[in-house]
Amino acid sequence: MAIRKPHVGGNWKMNLHGNEAAALAQAVVDAVGGSDAVDVTICPAFPYLSQVAQIAAGSHVKVGAQDAYHEANGAFTGEVSLSMLQDIGVEVLLTGHSERRHVIGETDVLVNAKTRAALDAGLDVILCVGEKEEQRDAGQTDAVNAAQTYYGLAGVSADQMARVTIAYEPVWAIGTGKTATPADAQNAHAAIRKVLSEMYDNNIAQATRLQYGGSVKPANAAELFGQTDIDGGLIGGAALKADDFLAIVDAAVGTPAGA
Ligand code: PEP
Repeated sequence: MAIRKPHVGGNWKMNLHGNEAAALAQAVVDAVGGSDAVDVTICPAFPYLSQVAQIAAGSHVKVGAQDAYHEANGAFTGEVSLSMLQDIGVEVLLTGHSERRHVIGETDVLVNAKTRAALDAGLDVILCVGEKEEQRDAGQTDAVNAAQTYYGLAGVSADQMARVTIAYEPVWAIGTGKTATPADAQNAHAAIRKVLSEMYDNNIAQATRLQYGGSVKPANAAELFGQTDIDGGLIGGAALKADDFLAIVDAAVGTPAGA
């Protein structure tokens, strides 16, 4: 079975002002910036991206943006283009995060446009998928994940898949303290991997990193990451404290997925 290097992302959302983002970035870079055992991506809010990217420069830590616009330029007031982000050292884009889908109102079509544009521009993408609580209760988890995966990756080439991570984030688990059981998360990840084998082939499905997100913390990370198809995590609240985030990164290193 393929061994996938674990990937842990920190989604800082609309948190950390002033020097807080720089201080947290420095702590993460100091701790894991020299490690090749795990890929770490940190995603600060727009105003702090440049400063955080300078701190991460030359290390193994990548800096990601929480959003971007898919058009290269034009009259799109308030939007930020991919090349602007690349100018300041951003290498990764989060797409399809549940807050962008369900709070801001992004459609599958827009998520796909952003995903394709980011990959075409040379960025890595973390594509987020996941079901709402009522969809889970209705037994629709795998169907929702499959649809969001198919739509999100439509038009993405097999070669580009090497730069895609999929984050399975059940909406009801994000920021709520509720976590999918390791067995439920594993089942959802395995089903997403099956979708990838249908869309591409089994080699690409096995090589693509699938990470779990939704109230991951140091206490539950190792068990989640120990599941066969879980290759790391996308971390929100627990990414805001260096000690917690680094403990989660350690858990990912300790449990190479797919091993
Ligand atoms: C997230 O923001 O993607 C997330 C998973 O948040 P939390 O870890 O706080 O649930």
